[in-house]
Amino acid sequence: MKSFTLLICYGLFVLHAARGDEWNYPTPGTNGVMSEPERWGGQCDNGRRQSPIDLTIAAAVRGQFAPLFFSNYMLPLKQPRVTNTGHSIQINNRDSAITMQGGGLGGRFVLDQMHFHWGSEHTLDDTRYGLELHLVHHDTRYASLEDAVQARNGVAVLGVLFHVGSQPNMHIDTILDTATEIQNEVGKEALLRGKLSPYNLLPSNRTSFYRYEGSLTTPACAESVIWTVFTESISVSLEQVERFKAIHDQTGRELVNNFRSVQPLNTRALVYATEWDQQGNNFATKMTSNVVFLGAIVLLVITSRLSYH
Ligand SMILES: [Zn+2]
Repeated sequence: MKSFTLLICYGLFVLHAARGDEWNYPTPGTNGVMSEPERWGGQCDNGRRQSPIDLTIAAAVRGQFAPLFFSNYMLPLKQPRVTNTGHSIQINNRDSAITMQGGGLGGRFVLDQMHFHWGSEHTLDDTRYGLELHLVHHDTRYASLEDAVQARNGVAVLGVLFHVGSQPNMHIDTILDTATEIQNEVGKEALLRGKLSPYNLLPSNRTSFYRYEGSLTTPACAESVIWTVFTESISVSLEQVERFKAIHDQTGRELVNNFRSVQPLNTRALVYATEWDQQGNNFATKMTSNVVFLGAIVLLVITSRLSYH
């Protein structure tokens, strides 16, 4: 009887331990609208600086940072492997030379992995995009991403939004072609069929972005992320967005969507940084001084003419 009780206890313990990574995205109803928000527990439910959020000028304060500086982003990734995590499609990076700094980040951050959400997690003025790419980095002051997750702003994530356009994106095609091989096998990885540089997945305008302090968007939703979401989006075709939905999760079902619902901003500052405003201001200043200069010449000509008469 005693050993039977022990067996039951052990069984419950194993079940509980296994539940650690068992979390899901709520499936949308037949109308495509989510019936309920996620219930992931812990900090995901109780946190005060959670991600994603709605990014809107109306809630933002103006920011101005030094440009983001990317090192080795233009080089093709070395033997990149694509993994079906059961929650996303992820490309891991082991090259510690791929780093970024500047942009008000306050440190140097090394690229760990890139993964996709379909549709986007962040919304721009309440508008959801077809895809969102997350480039996950950790501060080089920490030995690993796991260590950095424990620290405030130890992790820096770049968010890239993809809008639906008429042309397919060739870099996304490379990733999707490889992902198809492992779409039914959670935890499996496949060597990327082709070359890919992280730079290929960044928008051309990298000076205009939203910045805020938030969290990981998957359990346990650690509040250690400094977010940069670019305002310029990249184009993908509708067919490509649909292809992501063929990825299967650990229950064997199609991962129809894998975005978390938007979280409250609470008391956080949302910063909108753009170089355009700065140029605009400079332009306005130059125009004003030109007008003043021109006015002075006109006045001089008029007064000199008057003196001749
Ligand atoms: Zn993500």
